[in-house]
Amino acid sequence: MNDRKVTRPEIRKNNKAFLEDMISILEFYQALGFNRLPVAVKTGPSIHIKPLKKSSSKSRTIKAHMLRALREEIGDCKRCKLSDNRNHIVFGEGNPHAELVFIGEAPGREEDVQGKPFVGDAGKLLTSLIEKLGLTRKDVYIANIIKCRPPMNRDPEADEIETCRGFLERQLEIIEPKVIMSLGRIAAQTLTGNPKARITAIRGNFFDYKGIPLMPTFHPAYLIRNPKEKWLTWDDAQKVVEQIKRTD
Ligand code: URA
Repeated sequence: MNDRKVTRPEIRKNNKAFLEDMISILEFYQALGFNRLPVAVKTGPSIHIKPLKKSSSKSRTIKAHMLRALREEIGDCKRCKLSDNRNHIVFGEGNPHAELVFIGEAPGREEDVQGKPFVGDAGKLLTSLIEKLGLTRKDVYIANIIKCRPPMNRDPEADEIETCRGFLERQLEIIEPKVIMSLGRIAAQTLTGNPKARITAIRGNFFDYKGIPLMPTFHPAYLIRNPKEKWLTWDDAQKVVEQIKRTD
Protein backbone atom coordinates (compact mmCIF):
# COMPACT_ATOMS: atom_id res chain seq x y z
CA MET A 1 0.00 0.00 0.00
CA ASN A 2 1.29 3.43 -0.87
CA ASP A 3 1.17 5.56 2.29
CA ARG A 4 2.88 8.58 0.77
CA LYS A 5 1.41 11.79 2.22
CA VAL A 6 -0.72 13.69 -0.26
CA THR A 7 0.76 17.14 -0.77
CA ARG A 8 -1.21 20.37 -0.48
CA PRO A 9 -0.91 21.17 -4.22
CA GLU A 10 -2.31 17.69 -4.98
CA ILE A 11 -5.26 18.23 -2.62
CA ARG A 12 -5.92 21.61 -4.24
CA LYS A 13 -5.76 20.03 -7.71
CA ASN A 14 -8.18 17.21 -6.72
CA ASN A 15 -10.63 19.65 -5.12
CA LYS A 16 -10.54 21.85 -8.21
CA ALA A 17 -11.24 18.87 -10.47
CA PHE A 18 -14.12 17.79 -8.20
CA LEU A 19 -15.63 21.29 -8.22
CA GLU A 20 -15.33 21.51 -11.99
CA ASP A 21 -17.16 18.17 -12.32
CA MET A 22 -19.92 19.40 -10.00
CA ILE A 23 -20.29 22.65 -11.94
CA SER A 24 -20.62 20.82 -15.26
CA ILE A 25 -23.27 18.48 -13.76
CA LEU A 26 -25.24 21.49 -12.47
CA GLU A 27 -24.91 23.27 -15.82
CA PHE A 28 -26.17 20.15 -17.56
CA TYR A 29 -29.33 20.07 -15.41
CA GLN A 30 -29.79 23.82 -15.82
CA ALA A 31 -29.64 23.36 -19.60
CA LEU A 32 -32.39 20.76 -19.26
CA GLY A 33 -34.53 23.41 -17.59
CA PHE A 34 -34.23 22.38 -13.92
CA ASN A 35 -33.70 25.01 -11.24
CA ARG A 36 -32.95 22.32 -8.64
CA LEU A 37 -31.50 18.85 -8.88
CA PRO A 38 -34.06 16.19 -9.79
CA VAL A 39 -33.97 13.18 -7.50
CA ALA A 40 -33.87 10.15 -9.76
CA VAL A 41 -34.85 6.87 -8.18
CA LYS A 42 -34.89 3.51 -9.88
CA THR A 43 -34.34 1.10 -7.05
CA GLY A 44 -34.81 0.70 -3.35
CA PRO A 45 -32.75 2.16 -0.59
CA SER A 46 -30.71 4.56 -2.72
CA ILE A 47 -33.65 7.00 -2.71
CA HIS A 48 -32.26 10.43 -1.80
CA ILE A 49 -35.33 11.83 -0.13
CA LYS A 50 -35.11 12.87 3.45
CA PRO A 51 -37.77 10.82 5.21
CA LEU A 52 -40.58 12.46 7.08
CA LYS A 53 -40.07 12.28 10.84
CA LYS A 54 -43.15 10.07 11.12
CA SER A 55 -45.77 9.36 8.49
CA SER A 56 -48.54 9.38 11.07
CA SER A 57 -47.65 12.01 13.61
CA LYS A 58 -51.38 12.91 13.84
CA SER A 59 -54.33 10.57 14.18
CA ARG A 60 -56.88 10.15 11.41
CA THR A 61 -59.48 12.01 13.48
CA ILE A 62 -57.18 14.99 14.02
CA LYS A 63 -56.33 15.07 10.32
CA ALA A 64 -60.02 14.96 9.35
CA HIS A 65 -60.71 17.80 11.76
CA MET A 66 -57.80 19.88 10.43
CA LEU A 67 -58.95 19.35 6.83
CA ARG A 68 -62.46 20.48 7.75
CA ALA A 69 -61.04 23.57 9.44
CA LEU A 70 -59.00 24.36 6.34
CA ARG A 71 -62.07 23.99 4.13
CA GLU A 72 -63.93 26.40 6.40
CA GLU A 73 -61.05 28.86 6.18
CA ILE A 74 -61.27 28.82 2.38
CA GLY A 75 -64.97 29.65 2.72
CA ASP A 76 -66.76 31.04 -0.34
CA CYS A 77 -63.38 31.97 -1.81
CA LYS A 78 -63.06 35.13 -3.92
CA ARG A 79 -59.28 35.31 -3.77
CA CYS A 80 -58.90 35.01 -7.57
CA LYS A 81 -60.90 35.63 -10.73
CA LEU A 82 -61.91 31.97 -11.12
CA SER A 83 -64.56 32.56 -8.45
CA ASP A 84 -66.56 34.59 -11.02
CA ASN A 85 -67.61 31.54 -13.04
CA ARG A 86 -67.24 28.50 -10.83
CA ASN A 87 -70.17 26.57 -9.40
CA HIS A 88 -68.31 24.68 -6.68
CA ILE A 89 -64.96 24.86 -4.98
CA VAL A 90 -63.41 21.42 -5.41
CA PHE A 91 -61.46 21.08 -2.18
CA GLY A 92 -60.35 17.44 -2.56
CA GLU A 93 -61.62 14.22 -1.06
CA GLY A 94 -60.61 10.85 0.29
CA ASN A 95 -58.81 9.41 3.27
CA PRO A 96 -57.37 12.16 5.52
CA HIS A 97 -54.74 9.60 6.58
CA ALA A 98 -53.94 8.42 3.02
CA GLU A 99 -50.53 6.97 2.21
CA LEU A 100 -51.01 7.95 -1.42
CA VAL A 101 -52.24 11.31 -2.70
CA PHE A 102 -53.06 12.07 -6.37
CA ILE A 103 -52.79 15.67 -7.51
CA GLY A 104 -54.36 16.79 -10.78
CA GLU A 105 -54.48 20.17 -12.44
CA ALA A 106 -57.86 21.79 -11.94
CA PRO A 107 -61.51 20.79 -11.80
CA GLY A 108 -63.21 20.24 -15.15
CA ARG A 109 -66.90 20.68 -16.04
CA GLU A 110 -68.21 17.63 -14.19
CA GLU A 111 -66.05 18.31 -11.13
CA ASP A 112 -67.32 21.90 -11.04
CA VAL A 113 -70.91 20.63 -11.10
CA GLN A 114 -70.41 17.98 -8.41
CA GLY A 115 -67.78 19.72 -6.25
CA LYS A 116 -65.64 16.55 -6.31
CA PRO A 117 -62.26 15.90 -7.96
CA PHE A 118 -61.86 13.56 -10.92
CA VAL A 119 -65.45 12.47 -11.44
CA GLY A 120 -65.61 12.98 -15.24
CA ASP A 121 -64.07 10.78 -17.94
CA ALA A 122 -60.50 11.37 -16.72
CA GLY A 123 -61.75 10.55 -13.25
CA LYS A 124 -63.11 7.19 -14.41
CA LEU A 125 -59.69 6.28 -15.75
CA LEU A 126 -58.01 7.43 -12.52
CA THR A 127 -60.50 5.39 -10.49
CA SER A 128 -59.73 2.30 -12.56
CA LEU A 129 -55.97 2.81 -11.98
CA ILE A 130 -56.60 3.11 -8.22
CA GLU A 131 -58.70 -0.06 -8.29
CA LYS A 132 -56.10 -1.96 -10.32
CA LEU A 133 -53.67 -1.16 -7.50
CA GLY A 134 -56.04 -2.97 -5.15
CA LEU A 135 -57.28 0.25 -3.54
CA THR A 136 -60.46 2.31 -3.61
CA ARG A 137 -60.92 6.08 -3.88
CA LYS A 138 -61.63 6.04 -0.15
CA ASP A 139 -58.13 4.70 0.58
CA VAL A 140 -56.33 7.52 -1.22
CA TYR A 141 -56.74 11.29 -1.28
CA ILE A 142 -57.42 13.18 -4.53
CA ALA A 143 -56.97 16.92 -5.04
CA ASN A 144 -55.88 19.46 -7.63
CA ILE A 145 -53.34 22.27 -7.86
CA ILE A 146 -56.21 24.77 -8.01
CA LYS A 147 -59.69 24.36 -6.61
CA CYS A 148 -61.89 26.15 -9.15
CA ARG A 149 -62.57 25.37 -12.80
CA PRO A 150 -60.83 27.65 -15.32
CA PRO A 151 -63.22 28.83 -18.07
CA MET A 152 -63.35 26.39 -21.01
CA ASN A 153 -60.86 24.17 -19.13
CA ARG A 154 -57.97 26.43 -20.12
CA ASP A 155 -54.63 25.98 -18.30
CA PRO A 156 -54.57 27.58 -14.86
CA GLU A 157 -52.76 30.94 -14.94
CA ALA A 158 -49.73 31.71 -12.76
CA ASP A 159 -51.62 34.10 -10.46
CA GLU A 160 -54.38 31.52 -9.94
CA ILE A 161 -51.84 28.84 -9.00
CA GLU A 162 -50.02 31.22 -6.67
CA THR A 163 -53.25 32.21 -4.93
CA CYS A 164 -54.44 28.65 -4.44
CA ARG A 165 -51.35 26.48 -3.96
CA GLY A 166 -50.92 27.35 -0.29
CA PHE A 167 -54.15 25.52 0.48
CA LEU A 168 -52.94 22.37 -1.28
CA GLU A 169 -49.62 22.64 0.54
CA ARG A 170 -51.47 22.73 3.84
CA GLN A 171 -53.61 19.73 2.84
CA LEU A 172 -50.41 17.78 2.17
CA GLU A 173 -48.90 18.90 5.49
CA ILE A 174 -52.01 17.62 7.27
CA ILE A 175 -52.30 14.31 5.39
CA GLU A 176 -48.54 13.50 5.45
CA PRO A 177 -48.78 10.93 2.64
CA LYS A 178 -45.96 8.48 1.98
CA VAL A 179 -46.04 9.27 -1.74
CA ILE A 180 -47.61 11.88 -4.02
CA MET A 181 -48.47 11.04 -7.62
CA SER A 182 -48.88 14.15 -9.76
CA LEU A 183 -51.02 13.90 -12.87
CA GLY A 184 -49.96 15.86 -15.93
CA ARG A 185 -47.68 18.75 -16.78
CA ILE A 186 -49.15 21.54 -14.66
CA ALA A 187 -49.15 19.51 -11.43
CA ALA A 188 -45.62 18.23 -12.11
CA GLN A 189 -44.26 21.69 -12.88
CA THR A 190 -45.91 23.20 -9.80
CA LEU A 191 -44.86 20.50 -7.34
CA THR A 192 -41.29 20.08 -8.65
CA GLY A 193 -40.87 23.87 -8.77
CA ASN A 194 -39.64 23.59 -12.34
CA PRO A 195 -41.88 25.57 -14.72
CA LYS A 196 -40.02 24.17 -17.74
CA ALA A 197 -40.25 20.49 -16.79
CA ARG A 198 -41.53 18.27 -19.58
CA ILE A 199 -43.74 15.46 -18.39
CA THR A 200 -42.32 13.03 -20.97
CA ALA A 201 -38.82 13.73 -19.63
CA ILE A 202 -39.47 13.56 -15.90
CA ARG A 203 -42.25 10.99 -15.47
CA GLY A 204 -41.23 7.71 -13.92
CA ASN A 205 -38.65 9.33 -11.62
CA PHE A 206 -39.12 10.31 -8.01
CA PHE A 207 -38.66 13.93 -6.97
CA ASP A 208 -38.61 15.43 -3.51
CA TYR A 209 -41.62 17.43 -2.41
CA LYS A 210 -40.82 18.71 1.09
CA GLY A 211 -39.52 15.30 2.17
CA ILE A 212 -42.29 13.36 0.42
CA PRO A 213 -41.42 11.29 -2.68
CA LEU A 214 -43.25 12.76 -5.67
CA MET A 215 -43.87 10.66 -8.78
CA PRO A 216 -44.97 12.67 -11.83
CA THR A 217 -46.96 10.75 -14.39
CA PHE A 218 -49.27 11.44 -17.32
CA HIS A 219 -52.67 13.07 -16.84
CA PRO A 220 -55.55 10.59 -17.32
CA ALA A 221 -57.07 12.90 -19.97
CA TYR A 222 -53.84 12.52 -21.98
CA LEU A 223 -54.05 8.74 -21.56
CA ILE A 224 -57.60 8.74 -22.91
CA ARG A 225 -56.23 10.40 -26.05
CA ASN A 226 -53.09 8.21 -26.11
CA PRO A 227 -54.14 4.82 -24.72
CA LYS A 228 -50.90 3.19 -25.87
CA GLU A 229 -49.07 5.18 -23.18
CA LYS A 230 -51.15 3.73 -20.34
CA TRP A 231 -48.53 1.10 -19.57
CA LEU A 232 -46.03 3.88 -18.73
CA THR A 233 -48.34 5.24 -16.05
CA TRP A 234 -48.90 1.69 -14.82
CA ASP A 235 -45.12 1.35 -14.57
CA ASP A 236 -44.94 4.61 -12.59
CA ALA A 237 -47.70 3.37 -10.27
CA GLN A 238 -45.73 0.17 -9.59
CA LYS A 239 -42.77 2.27 -8.44
CA VAL A 240 -45.13 4.19 -6.17
CA VAL A 241 -46.42 0.94 -4.61
CA GLU A 242 -42.86 -0.27 -4.04
CA GLN A 243 -41.96 3.04 -2.41
CA ILE A 244 -44.96 2.80 -0.05
CA LYS A 245 -44.01 -0.79 0.87
CA ARG A 246 -40.44 0.27 1.61
CA THR A 247 -41.65 2.69 4.26
CA ASP A 248 -44.15 0.28 5.89
N1 URA B 1 -58.72 17.00 -14.48
C1 URA B 1 -58.01 17.40 -13.39
O1 URA B 1 -56.84 17.75 -13.50
N2 URA B 1 -58.63 17.39 -12.23
C2 URA B 1 -59.88 16.98 -12.06
O2 URA B 1 -60.36 16.99 -10.93
C3 URA B 1 -60.57 16.56 -13.20
C4 URA B 1 -59.99 16.57 -14.40
